Amino acid sequence: MRMILVGPPGAGKGTQAARLVETYAIPHISTGDMFRAAVKAGTELGKRADEYMQQGALVPDSLVIDMVLERIQQPDCASGFMLDGFPRTTPQAQALDQALSAAGIELDAVVLIEVPDELIEDRIIHRRQDPETGAIYHLINNPPTDEAVRARLVHRKDDTAEACRARLEKYHAETAPIVPFYGAKGLLKRVDGVGSPDDVEVRIKAALA
Ligand code: ADP
Ligand code: ADP
Repeated sequence: MRMILVGPPGAGKGTQAARLVETYAIPHISTGDMFRAAVKAGTELGKRADEYMQQGALVPDSLVIDMVLERIQQPDCASGFMLDGFPRTTPQAQALDQALSAAGIELDAVVLIEVPDELIEDRIIHRRQDPETGAIYHLINNPPTDEAVRARLVHRKDDTAEACRARLEKYHAETAPIVPFYGAKGLLKRVDGVGSPDDVEVRIKAALA
């Protein structure tokens, strides 16, 4: 299974990806996670990406595209992969398309998780992550039950109301235009992202079946 998860910030891509990669036994490739790891490690790429991420801006295509094309050539991607948060711009979608065509590989599906803008800010502001397991929580709707996990939760620097608005604007301006690109290829599956994570997971699996 070679698939892409698309959706606005806070749509539930990371939450659903964690569930789907278990089912399909494919690596989860999140460009956001890759950049956060680079920032943490203090690499040159991390330093360059950090300033864009903190403002809720997109990291330039030139930095993103090579990183992803290199990642999907790794042996663990030979029989499939799940891209989460990439492509996010038309040039990224075109670069991926060209690289896959050149390798004689085809995508199986592009899942668009649709969530109205009004629900996004609440999800972003209350998002927390367990740095040890990577598990994603919501402070109100889905808090951890274990006190030790609750105590170590981290809040992303870009999960503020201000950066969230900037990211949502970027989503509509830069990312939404890739949706018809995949629609024209017959790969697009639109899934309603409102409802419990379990409900959304069932809808995605039905769309992929
Ligand atoms: P994305 O990767 O698309 O930015 P996340 O999976 O990190 O989204 O989820 C963003 C926030 O919304 C988290 O706090 C998460 O717990 C919460 N969330 C995820 N799925 C749902 C859902 N179906 N309903 C309500 N909240 C959700
Ligand atoms: P979210 O879960 O809210 O959708 P991500 O974790 O995917 O956000 O991404 C966090 C930030 O990393 C983005 O706001 C952006 O600055 C940068 N980023 C991640 N993926 C890309 C990409 N494909 N192109 C450009 N910037 C990206």
